[in-house]
Amino acid sequence: MLNEQYNFFESVEQSFDKAAKFTKWDKGLLEQIKACNSIYSMKFPVKMDDGRIEVIEAYRVQHSQHKTPCKGGIRFSNAVNQDEVMALASLMTYKCAIVNVPFGGGKGGIKIDPRQHSAYELEKITRRYTAELVKKNFIGPGIDVPAPDYGTGEREMSWIVDTYTSLKPGEIDAAGCVTGKPISQGGVHGRKEATGLGVFFGIREVCNMPEIMQKLGMPIGIVDKKVVIQGLGNVGYHSAKFFREGGAIVVAIAEYEGAIYKTDGLNEEEVFQHRKKTGSILNFPGATNLAKSSDALEMDCDILIPAALENVIHADNAPNVKARIIGEAANGPLSPEADEIFIKRGILVVPDMYLNAGGVTVSYFEWLKNLSHVRYGRMEKRFQENMNKHILGQMENLAGKQVSKKEKDYILHGADEIDLVHSGLEETMIGATREIMDIWHANPSIPDMRTAAYVCAINKVAISYVELGIFP
Ligand code: GLU
Repeated sequence: MLNEQYNFFESVEQSFDKAAKFTKWDKGLLEQIKACNSIYSMKFPVKMDDGRIEVIEAYRVQHSQHKTPCKGGIRFSNAVNQDEVMALASLMTYKCAIVNVPFGGGKGGIKIDPRQHSAYELEKITRRYTAELVKKNFIGPGIDVPAPDYGTGEREMSWIVDTYTSLKPGEIDAAGCVTGKPISQGGVHGRKEATGLGVFFGIREVCNMPEIMQKLGMPIGIVDKKVVIQGLGNVGYHSAKFFREGGAIVVAIAEYEGAIYKTDGLNEEEVFQHRKKTGSILNFPGATNLAKSSDALEMDCDILIPAALENVIHADNAPNVKARIIGEAANGPLSPEADEIFIKRGILVVPDMYLNAGGVTVSYFEWLKNLSHVRYGRMEKRFQENMNKHILGQMENLAGKQVSKKEKDYILHGADEIDLVHSGLEETMIGATREIMDIWHANPSIPDMRTAAYVCAINKVAISYVELGIFP
């Protein structure tokens, strides 16, 4: 998927510079914001199941410590290299700033194809990587907190927290050394679906903005919009789920082995089960196969959601994209050339570093839960329910009528952890969408939403540096 010359970090720098022109900050300060503060590149040996010793290449990059800890996922992919991890770490800095999550940006990567390794090999690699991070003080609840990313999930996060705790006995906040953990290991309800749900909340908010929709020549709202999803990993799966549940029609889903489409809509869970059973997304009952996976990106639809890897839409295929809105669920799916083409074509690109911030937002909630050592809702749920019961009883007495059983259950319900997490995420995504749009509207010479998002991020990080007293 990645072409040889593509330089991801440079393309992030390019977008940054484009936006920096719309800010008033000193050149030196802008240089500091852009730079990657610490880069840890490592190699370590792991004995594979067949007795062979493989030397594993891995990275952890801390882009910015203007706020600590640093935060960002760890990816397992054959395409991992230092440039990619640096780009992804810098996107994390800007992402956290936009959604007001008080972290600096970080990212990790291990250059392996997880499909080519047994679970035992993956466990050894993950534990060894964690031990290397501990040795160099590159991990810890107040230092740097990894999370899932492409090719990793709850299982890997469990190995990380277990390795960390065993190397740091007695550290009371140790569970906060990584997020995206299973609930039993200190995870929070709602983390798994967070990025996909955040993508949905962000796009729904954009679709509810009358001026934007008028400009795009589309009716307001998400209902009946045709959506194409590229990638059926955690982010793609949950994006598809929430769009479908919100009334949109998921007309196509693409994976690396191919793509399928169905005009009256696909159900992501059925497609997922089909892929699990047959080993491929193709030949799904009632759907049509597309020859190439990338054909899905050029299909007729309203909203295109690339939810896999970077640089999938570039100068070659951008002119053929039919969608009116592109929601970047993945990090960096568009090249800067593609951005320019979409500006000219009047297509709205909703940028990655805020649209996919749902994951890190809920990671922040998980980290807070770990530091407070209590689950959300434990203290107030029962109190809230008793109070709701009392208020409803009083109102029914005064009115001389009773509400239906369904309404009663809804009114009486006190917030569980999942309710609070979803509500915090919804508030965050709606707030960030409006903040970026306000910046864009206030300065009509800003060419696109990505630039407006960068302006938002640069201003927040710059203010933070100034308030730290580092820059006058
Ligand atoms: N890997 C996700 C991202 O790129 C989540 C990071 C996190 O939760 O720290 O935003």
